[in-house]
Amino acid sequence: MNAPLPKSVSTKDLCELSPDWVRAIAPYQPGKPTSELARELGIEEKSIVKLASNENPHGIGPRTRAAIEAALGDLARYPDGNGFELKNALSRRYGVGMESIVLGNGSNDVLELVALAFLGVGSSAVYSQHSFAVYPLATQARGARGISVPAKSYGHDLEAMAAAVAGDTRVVFIANPNNPTGTFVPYDHISAFIKAVPGCIVVLDEAYNEYLPPELRVDTAKWVKRHANLVVTRTFSKAYGLAGLRVGYAMANPAVADLMNRVRQPFNVNSIALTAATAALDDMEFVARSYAENRAGMKRIEEGVTSLGLEYIPSFGNFIAVRVGKANEVFKRLLKRGVIVRPVTGYELPEHLRVSIGTPEENERFLTALAASLRE
Ligand SMILES: *Cc1c(COP(=O)(O)O)cnc(C)c1O
Repeated sequence: MNAPLPKSVSTKDLCELSPDWVRAIAPYQPGKPTSELARELGIEEKSIVKLASNENPHGIGPRTRAAIEAALGDLARYPDGNGFELKNALSRRYGVGMESIVLGNGSNDVLELVALAFLGVGSSAVYSQHSFAVYPLATQARGARGISVPAKSYGHDLEAMAAAVAGDTRVVFIANPNNPTGTFVPYDHISAFIKAVPGCIVVLDEAYNEYLPPELRVDTAKWVKRHANLVVTRTFSKAYGLAGLRVGYAMANPAVADLMNRVRQPFNVNSIALTAATAALDDMEFVARSYAENRAGMKRIEEGVTSLGLEYIPSFGNFIAVRVGKANEVFKRLLKRGVIVRPVTGYELPEHLRVSIGTPEENERFLTALAASLRE
């Protein structure tokens, strides 16, 4: 192991075996883990407030927890590679056929499957400025061209996106609500957009769907039957609280779902995740409570940052982008106070910090630390 390379081959030479579009990828920047900050500050991990990754601050629901405990006995077995139970539960809940569902190791995986199935050298994908980092990453990893369309009021400009679709465009990514800005595009605009680009796959990423107020929600699962080019993606990472287990899904026309399933790893979703997600669909009170607490927390943070004289982008997710000015500086000052939020410089938003809505106590800790950081 670790035998020295022959003198004639350097690691640099080896890296050049990789296509140049892979070598040009800038790695995804995840939220700072609490354990890392605890080590750096020499304080206990549980005294740290992490509002950096849009996780559910309320944990997981009771049925989900019981299902996970019950599933521990089966870990020696491979998971069901077709995810029958979970697909069956999703199919009943949303009224789509099981052949329309693709399961993923997080919805991130499902987004990658779209890229694997539809993008390659010589094709392109369209997405919005200030949108989810995985779209350009997945596009670039396939050697496809990314077309980033300038945002309008921090959100998707669907007219400009339709106009940006090129002859070689195979995929358009739309996050609704969008991360990291929290913006929301009304569903009638989205439906018009899907019809306007019938020759492209339109990925409608609804990671924050469960946080939308009921009056704004639309049953997009039903749209999959109407629009052969639509892929709706959702996740158990946010409102269901299962970010650590990694499970998400797509709903699409069966032919499109079939292609995505062909490029999927046979056991991409682990057995605990499959069991937990199936149970989580029945933890409806937990999701309802998460929704209600998120609305209340959002209101509190909006009021709190307004009273500090700050602006924010009105958000439809479980996080909010607050304009603090020198965001990287304020981010560091918050870290010193044991509060982790997310700078979004990499999303061309150098003055904003994205803050996930926490528990009432976490929200107060954040507001107090923010006030002190602004005075510093
Ligand atoms: C969080 C998020 C996802 C989901 O991530 P997974 O944990 O991989 O399911 C997908 N899209 C957006 C826009 C997100 O913010």
